[in-house]
Amino acid sequence: MKIGFIGLGIMGKPMAKNLMKAGHELVVFDVVQANVDDVVAAGAKSAASSKAVAEQCSLIITMLPNSPHVKTVVMGENGVLEGAKAGTVLIDMSSIAPLASQEINKACAAKGIKMIDAPVSGGEPKAVDGTLSIMVGGDKEIFEGVKEDILLKMGASAVYCGTIGAGNTTKLANQVVVACNIAACAEAFTLAKKAGVDPQLVFEAIKGGLAGSTVMNAKVPMMIDGNFKPGFKVDLHIKDLNNALETGHGVGSPLPLTAAVMEMLQTLHADGRGQEDHSSLANYYAKVSGT
Ligand code: NAD
Repeated sequence: MKIGFIGLGIMGKPMAKNLMKAGHELVVFDVVQANVDDVVAAGAKSAASSKAVAEQCSLIITMLPNSPHVKTVVMGENGVLEGAKAGTVLIDMSSIAPLASQEINKACAAKGIKMIDAPVSGGEPKAVDGTLSIMVGGDKEIFEGVKEDILLKMGASAVYCGTIGAGNTTKLANQVVVACNIAACAEAFTLAKKAGVDPQLVFEAIKGGLAGSTVMNAKVPMMIDGNFKPGFKVDLHIKDLNNALETGHGVGSPLPLTAAVMEMLQTLHADGRGQEDHSSLANYYAKVSGT
């Protein structure tokens, strides 16, 4: 199948490549030419704009940073809606605000375009391996139609969560758990270090117990090594927690832990660490503890 793919960053690049490995033909666009060149070298065809992608493809995937980027790419000048024919399917795999998914879906529906929101979890390593966890909102028939041949070529699981925006609500819940878990690891390992116990030994001792987690296994070694190469950037996590806090306020669900971690991430951003991996929360604790 000929698939349009817009947004070829840390995640989009390997996801696009996995679709090509599965035998799909890709037409791609990104505002950063180097990202386009990388995927073209792997066999994709490039297009001059999101509109040009939509003119050539009846199935389009977007993998962009946040709600405003998806709105621009879909609803803006030279965007998907200017080029797409009625009946086109749009799979937005970006992590954005659930309300934005609903707004974009409305604009799509007015032109006969069918949209699902399908954000992912797993980070760059799972994007490369094609083992992402995918959470989906929107029309269930559309989901079932793309599940095997498209979604499961990029992911190990694809779970239908409900109507449009439900994928992104699920993703926000995921991001709350991940943020609080990384902050808890940073807090605990700083405590151990400050009290004179080698963090590497603490990791070895506790990773197999109840405190152990996927987050601990992935992020604590980065904290110990002082390696904060992203991965998932501090600024992207600020974006997700902002969307979670707004959603929480909207539905009347207080998020006190999320609010506290948001303050830590904002401090890191102000310190010039916004492009570092979110394991950089260790640097927040290093600063406040003087370690
Ligand atoms: P990224 O910043 O590396 O990539 C985003 C890409 O979108 C960039 O290549 C950028 O040039 C492109 N872009 C921005 N505006 C554009 C426009 N108007 N037209 C065309 N292209 C445009 O981000 P990423 O890490 O790949 O993340 C993408 C999405 O996936 C985000 O919503 C993020 O929260 C989510 N996500 C990321 C990870 C991770 O570990 N990196 C994990 C799960 C989910």
